[in-house]
Amino acid sequence: MSSRYDFDLFTIGAGSGGVRASRMAGAAGARVAIAEDSDLGGTCVNLGCIPKKLLVYASHYPEAFEEAAAGYGFTVGPHSFDWGTLIANKDREIARLNGIYGRLLDDAGVTLVRGRARIVDAHTVEVAGRRYTAENLLVAVGGWPSVPDVPGIEHAITSNEVFHLDALPERVLLVGGGYIAVEFAGVFHGLGSQVTQIYRGPLFLRGFDDDVREHLAGELRKKGLDLRFDLNVAAIAKEEKELRVTLTDDSELRVDQVVFATGRRPKTADLGLEEAGVELDAGGAIVVDAFSRSSVPSIWAIGDVTDRVNLTPVAIHEGMCLVKTLVEGKPTSPDHAFVPSAVFSQPPIGSVGLTEAEARERYDEIDVYRSRFRPLLHTLTGMEEQTLMKLLVDRASDRVVGLHVVGPDAAEMTQGFAVAIKAGATKAQFDATIGIHPTAAEELVTMREPVAE
Ligand code: NDP
Repeated sequence: MSSRYDFDLFTIGAGSGGVRASRMAGAAGARVAIAEDSDLGGTCVNLGCIPKKLLVYASHYPEAFEEAAAGYGFTVGPHSFDWGTLIANKDREIARLNGIYGRLLDDAGVTLVRGRARIVDAHTVEVAGRRYTAENLLVAVGGWPSVPDVPGIEHAITSNEVFHLDALPERVLLVGGGYIAVEFAGVFHGLGSQVTQIYRGPLFLRGFDDDVREHLAGELRKKGLDLRFDLNVAAIAKEEKELRVTLTDDSELRVDQVVFATGRRPKTADLGLEEAGVELDAGGAIVVDAFSRSSVPSIWAIGDVTDRVNLTPVAIHEGMCLVKTLVEGKPTSPDHAFVPSAVFSQPPIGSVGLTEAEARERYDEIDVYRSRFRPLLHTLTGMEEQTLMKLLVDRASDRVVGLHVVGPDAAEMTQGFAVAIKAGATKAQFDATIGIHPTAAEELVTMREPVAE
């Protein structure tokens, strides 16, 4: 890289993707700077995956007390829950992670520039009134919640604010049917709030396998979550002690909080991108080629700001590929095939590969293996929760092209099976694998009969 510039690489945004790319580039000998105007670690660490998962853990306890007491012989005494303690402990852990991110950057010799960055031209960035030049710029600014323009929207919050609420709301309305809405509906319900979730279409989690969507809806309703589909918010009015929400069917709901989880948008406004000639798509995402290069040859982008597969491990992977391309001289394009993912709903979902609808479209003939059963745990709790497992197999090659689980530990299971599926495992190889007994996961290697067409 050239020394005509202050740096070889200047990264905007110290989230999962930006930090990984910067510190790997720094460790490989490049002169790197990274700008951040908020806490280090980005959405995942501060307002996403990590604090969300901690809240999900917390929200399991009330049900666990009940399970233990119901059938396993425990007497659980009176217990109470303090939201403030949970939030304070969560904040302490996040602050620790912020510190680790800072040290990782430091150790890799990366210069941290505090402040909001703006691109001036193809090789120049301005932060807090100072200009920095670099041979390459990397935009890794992520996304931000997007809410529709309904009357009274200012009374609603997004997932960002949930992490710092003063108190656990008694009654909550969740709006949306994606990952975030489903996960937070579970968190609030688990902690004891009265939860209503509405989704504008006929069935939530669009894009997931249809059996998975139906199964989860059924399980959530069994738990007492009020799920309503084909419904949206028409208006929100603030009354003295509550919010009055008018829905599109003219019904009304009175709640303490309304949380909109209606998607996220790339955070590309006011960055100087358009002026520098960087092409954005209709949704505001940076258009990149297979190597994460934008329409301006010296400007690159990774992570949610490119709206490819919006997941932390994918942003990290894109960052690692970029370092190979830019610093190691080995052009490497990220691989977005067979990316496993989970929804930390209750019960959670794990998925890798195609949905049944996608598999039917892609292959001439597929076999579908499906199993529903009551997990061993619940034989004594008396709970009616059912687990769903599903495998999709391309009949011609015998390759397993989709795996879907709804049930306890679905995410942990799916991570392991994702290795096999990524490696191209066939159904015969699944069948040749011995199960671990007694587990739920063993079902995935013992499904013998495809469901009838
Ligand atoms: P999603 O895009 O997944 O879901 C948005 C939801 O809001 C959809 O149900 C959508 O409906 C609905 N919606 C959009 N606009 C409106 C509107 N105007 N009125 C009513 N409903 C609307 O976004 P999320 O916010 O849930 O998550 C953002 C991203 O974060 C995801 O892409 C995901 O990759 C990532 N994420 C991943 C997690 C994980 O891996 N566990 C956890 C949380 C987030 P429709 O389907 O009809 O478009």
